[in-house]
Amino acid sequence: MQRVDYIIVGQGLAGSCLALRLLMCGKKVAVIDEGNPHAASRVAAGLFNPVTGKMPALTWMASELFSSLAIFYTEAEKYTRTSFYHPMPVYRPFISLAEQYAWMEKATAGEMDAFIQKIHHQQAFAEEVTNPYGGIELRQCGYINTANFLKAVKKVVAEQGIFMDEAFRESELRLASGYVQYSHLEAGKIVFCTGVSCIRLFDFVPIRPLKGEVLKLQSSHRPQCIYNRGVYVVPEVWIAGATYTKADQTCAITGAARTQLERGLNALIRFPCTITGQDYGFRPTLPDRRPVLGRHPQYPHVYIFNGLGTKGVSLAPYFSAQLLNYMENGVPLNQIVDVKRYIFR
Ligand SMILES: Cc1cc2nc3c(=O)[nH]c(=O)nc-3n(C[C@H](O)[C@H](O)[C@H](O)COP(=O)(O)OP(=O)(O)OC[C@H]3O[C@@H](n4cnc5c(N)ncnc54)[C@H](O)[C@@H]3O)c2cc1C
Repeated sequence: MQRVDYIIVGQGLAGSCLALRLLMCGKKVAVIDEGNPHAASRVAAGLFNPVTGKMPALTWMASELFSSLAIFYTEAEKYTRTSFYHPMPVYRPFISLAEQYAWMEKATAGEMDAFIQKIHHQQAFAEEVTNPYGGIELRQCGYINTANFLKAVKKVVAEQGIFMDEAFRESELRLASGYVQYSHLEAGKIVFCTGVSCIRLFDFVPIRPLKGEVLKLQSSHRPQCIYNRGVYVVPEVWIAGATYTKADQTCAITGAARTQLERGLNALIRFPCTITGQDYGFRPTLPDRRPVLGRHPQYPHVYIFNGLGTKGVSLAPYFSAQLLNYMENGVPLNQIVDVKRYIFR
C-alpha cells in the first residue's frame, strides 16, 4: 500500500485547482483521470468575464472570485513553471443606442466600477470588430489556456505525487473507518471531481449535463480584445463559442451549432480567420446554478467538488480554497454551495 493524504478522482478544472492547492501546502496527492477528451475542461475556451448573461449583469460573487483567480493562476504558473494565464480585456459591442444609454446608466450606479475599463460611445477597434454603436470594454477578464493548465498540473502531480491515467472503478473503493483504500493506495480522504460522470456515492446530487459546442479557428491576427457578442472569440487557443443546449445529449457535433456559431462569428469579427474544426462537451450544472462541495453525509472521508457549470475557470480557484480549508481546518463552507443542501430532499 502507498499512503497519500488525498485521492482526487477527475482532473478537470475542479480536480486540477484542488490538487495544485493541496500540493502547494505540502500534501501528498494521487490523482486518477481517464482523460475523457470531451470533458468540459478539455473543450472549454477558458474565458473569464465578470459581466455575463443575456441581460448582462455582474456575475455572482464577482469581486471575491476574480481577485482569487488572479492570485491563484499567477501562483500556479510559477509553481508549475508554465504559462496559461492571460489577462485581456473583453469588448462587448452594443446592438443599439438604447443599449449604450442603459449601460451608461448602469455604470453611474458604481457597483461595476472595478470591472468597467471604458464605455465607447462610438465604434472602437473598428478594424477587428463590428460595433456601430460602440461598446463596453471590461477589465479583470481574460482566458486560461486550459489545455496547458491541465497538462502542467498533470506533470507536477506525477512528479510530486501519483497520477493514474485510468478510469476509476467505484466497486473497488474500500471505505474503512479513518481512511479509504483504492487499488494500491491508502488515503486519508477521497474527493470526487468527476464533472458530469455519475458517482453512485453522490447520486443524490442532481448534476445535469448542459451540452456546449465550439468552433476551432485559425488566424495569424493578434486581436486587442476578446470580442463577445452572441459568440466570443478567444485568441491564441482560437476558440469561438459556445452553444448551450439542455435538450440535446448526443455525444456528437451538430450542423445546427455550426450554423449558429458561424453566423455569430461573421456578424462579430472583421479580421481574417478560418474555421478548422468543431468540438462538444458537457458542463456539469445544478438546478440552482451553484457549485457543490463538501462531505458525504455517511462517509466522513469522502468529498465532492462539482457543479462548476458554465464558469469553471472563475469558480474553481475560489471554491477549491474553500474546500481545502474545510477539509484541513474545519472552516465551515458557504451554505449556498454546501452539498448538505441536497441531503434531506
Ligand atoms: C463548450 C464549452 C465551453 C466552455 N467554455 C468555458 C469558458 O470559456 N469559461 C469557463 O469558465 N467555463 C467554460 N466552460 C465550462 C467549464 O468547462 C466547466 O465549468 C468546467 O470545465 C468543469 O470542470 P470539472 O473539473 O468540474 O469537470 P470536467 O471538466 O468534466 O472534468 C471531469 C474530469 O473527470 C474525469 N473523470 C470522470 N469520471 C471519471 C472516472 N470514473 N474515472 C476517471 N476519471 C474520470 C474526466 O476525464 C475529466 O477529466 C465550457 C464548457 C463547455 C462544454
